[in-house]
Amino acid sequence: MSDSKAKPRVVVLGSNFSGLTTARFIRQWCGDAVDITVIDRKTYLLFVPNIPLEVMENKDPAQSVLLPVLDILAKDGTDFIPAEVTEIDLDGSTVHYTPSERPGAAGETLSYDYLVLALGARLAYDHIDGFGEYGHTVSDTFYGNRLREYLHEGGYSGGPIAIGSALFHQGTSGRPDWLPTAYGACEGPPLELSLSFGTWLGDRDMGGPEKVTVFSPGDVLAEDAGEEIAQEFHQMAEQMGYTILESTQDVKRVTADGIEFESGDSVEAEVSIIFPDWVPHEVIAQLPITDEVGFVITDLKMHTEKYPNVFAVGDCAALTVPKLGAHGHVQADVLARQIAHDVGEATDEEAEKQFDPEIICFGTMGHDKAFYVHSNAWYGGDISVFEMGYMYYAMKLAFKEMYFRTGGKPPSWGVPLTEFVAEKL
Ligand SMILES: Cc1cc2nc3c(=O)[nH]c(=O)nc-3n(C[C@H](O)[C@H](O)[C@H](O)COP(=O)(O)OP(=O)(O)OC[C@H]3O[C@@H](n4cnc5c(N)ncnc54)[C@H](O)[C@@H]3O)c2cc1C
Repeated sequence: MSDSKAKPRVVVLGSNFSGLTTARFIRQWCGDAVDITVIDRKTYLLFVPNIPLEVMENKDPAQSVLLPVLDILAKDGTDFIPAEVTEIDLDGSTVHYTPSERPGAAGETLSYDYLVLALGARLAYDHIDGFGEYGHTVSDTFYGNRLREYLHEGGYSGGPIAIGSALFHQGTSGRPDWLPTAYGACEGPPLELSLSFGTWLGDRDMGGPEKVTVFSPGDVLAEDAGEEIAQEFHQMAEQMGYTILESTQDVKRVTADGIEFESGDSVEAEVSIIFPDWVPHEVIAQLPITDEVGFVITDLKMHTEKYPNVFAVGDCAALTVPKLGAHGHVQADVLARQIAHDVGEATDEEAEKQFDPEIICFGTMGHDKAFYVHSNAWYGGDISVFEMGYMYYAMKLAFKEMYFRTGGKPPSWGVPLTEFVAEKL
């Protein structure tokens, strides 16, 4: 019998931003002390943040935003199973899955000593009436290409453009006092696309910001960036000519003529770009460790309460609000230290690190410029930085390159180097 049979087995469910990075941090912290198996239905990471940029520049995002994960994990000595996770049995410490390479595979079971839930959330376009026929978005390569082809291959006739979020349903049970209610799950992408469209229209002599309406279900657009930045953005956007429509409550319906909102407002649009509700996956929502919506309740070290060997990270965790990959990245390191501490590979002091949320976001604006937000004001902190310029565009591109080159373990969104370059230089 080999030694490895005796090692604790860590099973990581999901291998996009949170799962891949968590698996890599666990290997870094624990070395050879654990066996790690990652399960995901797909064998590549979808680098979502750069899809808007590719679409606006008429580049097929499928050619540049997919990062194969098998080799990266194999080099770490981590196993990967391409499979659909069908059931999680917390009392039996087992995961049930169906291999996804070929349809017809029979169900399999894997037991674990530690379980990391990194399955993200469903982006619920199917909850929006009319979306399939009339809606656009940029959260994956299919939708990105559909919008790109409409814009760049003769479909777009120069009509008005509406961009914004549907209502996000956030749970309340187990929620700490410092975590406010977000009405949009992720408000950075609507801002990024709005600014990019203003430039894009101008470059084509088709108008500019006056053709674009940015909408938000909450009272304040981009409220999660903190009051000061949200106000600054609001003023700047209105001066540029954008229309801002707040308190829309939710998207009721998308039609050929535009969007109707739950508030009774409506907006005329030839192109309706919507970021939907982030809804928990059923396989997670049914577990007895979630809030009433279905996001996993954890402490600041990402442990679930009832099962201390079970962790959640990234978009499936209730603490991850707004839904940002940057949050998952920080949480990955926090929870890897917990497992390392348990197996004797991290000191008490190293295991002290907790999730301390900060919003870090780079959004492109066209003409090789981008904005940069670094803030924890919404959580009650005192960081509030909002900058724009060429350097931030270069940093956004460099971050993706670094992420791909290092296989999902870059110096990170939020490490001191990024902050230093962005804020001090
Ligand atoms: C347009 C856009 C731009 C964004 N830009 C930024 C940005 O600039 N900065 C930032 O920090 N965040 C950004 N985000 C948010 C970011 O994309 C998410 O927060 C991030 O993807 C969450 O990572 P995750 O790994 O937790 O979940 P996901 O990315 O959703 O990954 C979950 C993984 O689990 C797998 N999975 C799910 N269910 C199953 C199952 N049953 N069986 C097997 N596998 C399964 C999926 O295949 C997937 O690989 C953006 C989002 C959008 C839509």
